[in-house]
Amino acid sequence: MIDWKAVGLKVGIEIHQQLETGKLFCGCSSDMKGEPEIMEVVRKQHPVPSELGYYDVSATYEELRNRRFHYSVVARESCLVELDEEPPHDINREALEAALLVAHYFHSWVFDEFHVMRKTITDGSNTGAFQRTIMISKGGYIDSATVDGDLRVSLEGINLEEDAANILWKKDGDVGYGLSRLGIPLVEIGTDVIEASPEAVAEVAKGIGLTLRATGRVKRGLGTIRQDINVSVRGGKRVEIKGAQDLRSMPAVIEGEAKRQLDLIELSRAGLAHAVKRNGAIIRIGGGAKYLSYPLGNSTLEQEIRDMETVFILPLSMEIEGDDVVIKLGEDIESKYSLVEERLKEILSGPSEETRAVVSGARTIYTRPLPGGARMYPETDVPPISRPSLDLGPVPPPYYVVVNELRHRFSLDQSSAEELYVSPLRLIAEKALKETHLPPAYVASVLMGTLKSLEREGVQVSLLADWQLLSTLKLVDGGYPKEAVEGLLKLVCERRPSDEEQLKALADSLVGGEVDLQKIIGEVMERDAQLVKSKGMGAYGAVMGDVMRSVRGKVDGKKVSEEVKKALEKALSTSSGRS
Ligand SMILES: [Zn+2]
Repeated sequence: MIDWKAVGLKVGIEIHQQLETGKLFCGCSSDMKGEPEIMEVVRKQHPVPSELGYYDVSATYEELRNRRFHYSVVARESCLVELDEEPPHDINREALEAALLVAHYFHSWVFDEFHVMRKTITDGSNTGAFQRTIMISKGGYIDSATVDGDLRVSLEGINLEEDAANILWKKDGDVGYGLSRLGIPLVEIGTDVIEASPEAVAEVAKGIGLTLRATGRVKRGLGTIRQDINVSVRGGKRVEIKGAQDLRSMPAVIEGEAKRQLDLIELSRAGLAHAVKRNGAIIRIGGGAKYLSYPLGNSTLEQEIRDMETVFILPLSMEIEGDDVVIKLGEDIESKYSLVEERLKEILSGPSEETRAVVSGARTIYTRPLPGGARMYPETDVPPISRPSLDLGPVPPPYYVVVNELRHRFSLDQSSAEELYVSPLRLIAEKALKETHLPPAYVASVLMGTLKSLEREGVQVSLLADWQLLSTLKLVDGGYPKEAVEGLLKLVCERRPSDEEQLKALADSLVGGEVDLQKIIGEVMERDAQLVKSKGMGAYGAVMGDVMRSVRGKVDGKKVSEEVKKALEKALSTSSGRS
């Protein structure tokens, strides 16, 4: 177990969450439904200096990789704006308002005016080699209850950005991108440095995700939220890890990177960087053989060298000659030889500022140097935007406080309580508690259990209006059989009643109108009279069974049981009175 304080672990998280609106600067849909391709556009990108005359290190690096980018154009989900052949339209107001609501939830200080900026991105994921980004707010915080105790993490601020295109394929150094995702609005939330255990950091990330979803304005599902993690240890360097989608693996990823940096510091003491000699396509590490299996976090030195084959897209083989390691690079790609040599020296000299990507589980792979600061410039196609005045109400309490409350009030387990916290059904659940006498656990079981099982059956429960759910619960409160609720909700989805009266009629049609329970019990008692006489209360099971056969799904079982007991008691007391 590593003492995280002692090694000076510092972590920052950056969360990108797509908003549930159309695209940010054009009218295209953000559904990502997988529309058919109508055209492919192929481009190359070349770095240009920033306003201050600097070339961005990652842009220059990208040019050395000399890749071609293929953009798949699809109808409805992309247009000339995505292709950077037409200026951006006015900003999507709905997205802007959603970003303001997010800033509100995170106590972040919103600017009076917003300026659209372009951020240089040269990995091909943006057709124009830039991404539009808007600083919405500064500062703010998130409170969490973590394994390290209560933790308040400050935020740098919140940006509203365009999402990048998504990778469809990679082949021989070329990359295929889809334009459907390009331009989908997302909020970017960056934390200040967090000095806590990897587990606590993951809990903070989870809290940010839950709070975002609780706004009700963000997309859900795989790929709609992405986390970048910045990690460093004392004596190490800032390393940005991209693509940590799974919160469960986040602690292992952080731990692995911290260990990798500690291992690199240790390895650098061997002085191998000075023993790297290149002769054309052959690179020799003098005395490197015994270090090949040296651990580097979740990887080894050998693996890190072999990874360069993927990183620089060139064939690479490795042999041991005596005490040396000999690396042979693929021919005809001479321009890349020095990249490999430099990178190798970098690894052997200790940690370096770099971007890495999660490849499998908690293992990461080098992707490129960390972008420098020289990559922002103003977007002159969009004028500054004034802050709209919105009434956002009070800031809600921290997520974990509300989740705890829901857990207790509705007798839920932790994950169901979290689910209810971010669900639009939470409002209906709260209303049902106020307006009916139903037990909270029952309300939760209908809203979370019954609806889910209907959804699994293929019923479109998303069509259910809030009032329809609430009215159904009220019917149950008034004695409508619980057994019939699932069937009723299904019917409501199909028939879509437009008012309470119509819904009531549907409910009645399902249970065959009013059931005269007393009459049925009377009939059964008469039929079973002999049995009741001989067994007394012992006849309860048989009578109950007979009555239920006629009223199942029409009258609540508990009510039937009560009435049968009453009828039996009455019959027995009169018969004993006579004798
Ligand atoms: Zn478009």
